[in-house]
Amino acid sequence: MQDKAENTDVSEVKHFIQEIVENDIKSGKYQGRVHTRFPPEPNGYLHIGHAKSICLNFGLAAKYGGLTNLRFDDTNPVKEDTEYVDSIKEDVKWLGFSWDDREYYASDYFEQLYKYAIKLIEKDKAYVCDLSQEEMATYRGTVNQAGKDSPYRSRSVSENVDLFHRMKNGEFADGSRVLRAKIDMASPNMLLRDPILYRILHAEHHRTGNEWCIYPMYDFAHGQCDSIEKITHSVCTLEFEVHRPLYDWFVKELEIYAPQQIEFARLNLTYTMMSKRKLLELVKGSFVNGWDDPRMPTICGLRRRGFTPESLRNFAEKVGIARRDNIIDISLLEFCLREDLNKKALRVMSVMDPIKVTIINYPDNQVEWMDAVNNPEDELAGIRKVPFSKELYIERDDFMEVPSKKYFRLSPGSEVRLRYAYFIKCEEVIKDATGNIIELKCTYDVATKGGNAPDGRKVKGTIHWVSKAQALQAEVRLYDRLFLKENPEDCADGADYKSNLNPDSLKVQSCFVEPSVKAAEKLDKFQFERVGYFSVDYDSKPNSLVFNRIVTLKDSWSKIVAKE
Ligand code: ATP
Ligand code: MG
Repeated sequence: MQDKAENTDVSEVKHFIQEIVENDIKSGKYQGRVHTRFPPEPNGYLHIGHAKSICLNFGLAAKYGGLTNLRFDDTNPVKEDTEYVDSIKEDVKWLGFSWDDREYYASDYFEQLYKYAIKLIEKDKAYVCDLSQEEMATYRGTVNQAGKDSPYRSRSVSENVDLFHRMKNGEFADGSRVLRAKIDMASPNMLLRDPILYRILHAEHHRTGNEWCIYPMYDFAHGQCDSIEKITHSVCTLEFEVHRPLYDWFVKELEIYAPQQIEFARLNLTYTMMSKRKLLELVKGSFVNGWDDPRMPTICGLRRRGFTPESLRNFAEKVGIARRDNIIDISLLEFCLREDLNKKALRVMSVMDPIKVTIINYPDNQVEWMDAVNNPEDELAGIRKVPFSKELYIERDDFMEVPSKKYFRLSPGSEVRLRYAYFIKCEEVIKDATGNIIELKCTYDVATKGGNAPDGRKVKGTIHWVSKAQALQAEVRLYDRLFLKENPEDCADGADYKSNLNPDSLKVQSCFVEPSVKAAEKLDKFQFERVGYFSVDYDSKPNSLVFNRIVTLKDSWSKIVAKE
């Protein structure tokens, strides 16, 4: 009780699964062990929803001194592939979790699962059914109407054993027969109306090859795999709540070790599609440039975009664990990202939409190397040298010929600070024949080197710049949300979520960056001051840098001004 009163840190407030686990530890259930698993089906790349499940499962084990298995739920050979297995392993590792040597596959247990099925048949709790799919649907009844027993339900145990054996031996065609549990065709829970345990599928499996032509259904595989691995808490998303009676029925009838299934709400995010099937469709239909397109909510897409594992773990923590479905605002994810990048990303200056500035009273061929702070949030990050010279670029919108009232940046006759350099004053505006401003002629005050005037005079604006001669030209990819609607599924009749794709989710342009980024490597992250956070893309090469915009800055400008 006292503990609770002192507990003011919200991150210390326990969620309901932690409560369950702690109670189980106290009561000695499972001898105090905690053993979780992350069970992806290798039929696509992981997305941020999976990241939440990974953080939860590995997080529980870490908190209570337990273990987590990585188990591939590879029971559907038609959709699964080693490409996906490899990507899943890479993503879990990148998120910062380790399953040590506990890498398992449902297919490791095909023999054992087969034996379990035989055991059910022998207990007269399973039978081979020859109804067609359509017939089976009719016999199944509806939510309001009890189902009817299959005419094959009364087959003898010996006939069932024989037929199941022959199913396994490949004597029958796909779809001609199934093995079903014998439970209750009148159960209000439709999943208990003699669910299918095994189907015939003459398909090559990415691990077991052609060894099997019958494959267990998810429900028959999942809980039994948990049981074999002595999982204690089998955490899954809410849609499996109705499967739990079946999960429990199997372990009871098979008289095997019983893990417990616990459901939590899956992560839903605004403006985000979170179904592997639909993400696959976006990839296959070339709506995006692959699974790791930086607009994708896949872990590999987020990684390429420039997200850090810490920001995703933090996000998973902040979102919490709910019992009811909800939708999280994507801005929370962006908040976690900025919070982390702010601590880590080196600051550099870049100009996105340049306008040339010539400092008319600056010596022609002089280059000065100015001290610039790498990261004001991290003293250890040190300083770097940034070249300053007579010809510079500044952002077009940092100049206004006729300034509005609250405009404190550059305008004719006014003085601003060039960050880390000098005060400058705009003396003349040069335009082309059509009236576009093409150059600003400015003067500088040599006494203001470093950005402060010895006479104490102040300027209200500080702007960033790059030196024209030394600046590197880089490609920048500016991303916006992939979908226009908060709920991508919200679309007109006859249309699908793809009609909500944002046609402007990617804009490519060039920019100028200070030369310090020259040696930047893939996935290095920077804050382009006053512009946003950027990460070096995989397509980047030493002489043609490519940056992904990870996220825009929130008003960092006002902070710079306030600090002066
Ligand atoms: P999808 O519906 O996107 O295809 P899935 O649930 O079919 O995903 P699995 O590979 O079966 O994908 O999922 C592995 C684990 O990740 C499961 O335990 C599942 O419950 C969990 N998971 C999947 N999506 C989410 C989500 N949005 N939020 C939290 N956990 C999730
Ligand atoms: Mg699934």
